[in-house]
Amino acid sequence: MDVVGRMARLRAGFDEAGCDAVLVTRMVNIRYLTGFTGSAAVLLVRPDDLLFVTDGRYGDQAAEQLARAGVEAEIHVGRTSDEQRTTVAARAVGIARVGVEAEAVTWAQHRRFAADWFPDTELVPTEDLVGALRRVKDAGEVDRMARAGAVADAALAACRSMLVDGVTEADLALALDFAMRRRGADGPSFETIVASGPNGAKPHHRPVDRRIEAGELVVIDFGALVDGYCSDMTRTLCVGQPSSATARRMVEVVAESQRAGVAAVSGGTEARVVDEACRSVIADAGWADAFLHSTGHGVGLEIHEDPRVSSTSTDTLQPGYVVTVEPGVYLPEHGGVRIEDTVVVTPDGCRTLTNAPKDLVLT
Ligand code: ZN
Ligand code: ZN
Repeated sequence: MDVVGRMARLRAGFDEAGCDAVLVTRMVNIRYLTGFTGSAAVLLVRPDDLLFVTDGRYGDQAAEQLARAGVEAEIHVGRTSDEQRTTVAARAVGIARVGVEAEAVTWAQHRRFAADWFPDTELVPTEDLVGALRRVKDAGEVDRMARAGAVADAALAACRSMLVDGVTEADLALALDFAMRRRGADGPSFETIVASGPNGAKPHHRPVDRRIEAGELVVIDFGALVDGYCSDMTRTLCVGQPSSATARRMVEVVAESQRAGVAAVSGGTEARVVDEACRSVIADAGWADAFLHSTGHGVGLEIHEDPRVSSTSTDTLQPGYVVTVEPGVYLPEHGGVRIEDTVVVTPDGCRTLTNAPKDLVLT
């Protein structure tokens, strides 16, 4: 991963953002910019230098991780919050405008920054300054997400034999999580969803002790976390044959919709065009109102990040973006169907990072 280059790209955005320095407080953005994985730090990015302030738990870890990433910074360990504030405030003297991450800073923090941290400095709200950089994944990031996708593929293959008449949603979810950890994941990238029968009609159902019955559709939505990066995949399976012709038709329509969406992904394509490609197939089948969510989302250090792939998105896909394509149809009397892959955008198409088979029926 090219961590060092990110700082230069961040600074290149200062002018447009109307600031002379930036205080980064969102931990996931600090991780992105420095390689630091701890839970407490602030980062003051000035034009020519970098101040990294953390607390007593993380001094050694910060020094190691920043050095490993090749990031040069003055690392200050402040034992108290007063000490941390004084250090940052001293470095901000003489800076006219400091950007803060508008969507991460609370009202209370903002009041403290304005009154105590930067009393003589104008605070400038910034939006998406680091997020814009994070959208384009470098080769090292894509490699981690491909590994996360492969771990999830292997976990599902290992657990398919468990999906028989009578197994509970919760047991299957636990087995998937365990199988991912066994194969090198740090954990699941979000809480694994196993939603069977009527539960499948709720897109974000939490697994319960419900026993899965033959003929029911089972929506399995899960992903692995590998070295900080997420994968996201949904498969819809069935023990034996689906119990209704409608259920079978739902699977065919969603599969066609998902193929159309993936085929539409390409560098330079507007994200809403991908949403429309998925949505039109489902609308043609008469189920427009049963597609209850947007088509997809960006994936990276976070399971849901920009860009959004939706009908109202103003984003244009760029090579290096990693997004999901996950149409679904939800009918309370038949259950749910969702099929999802994580793909990396290329100049003339995309590469799929989740590759588990999409065949429906388990016998
Ligand atoms: Zn998912
Ligand atoms: Zn997703």
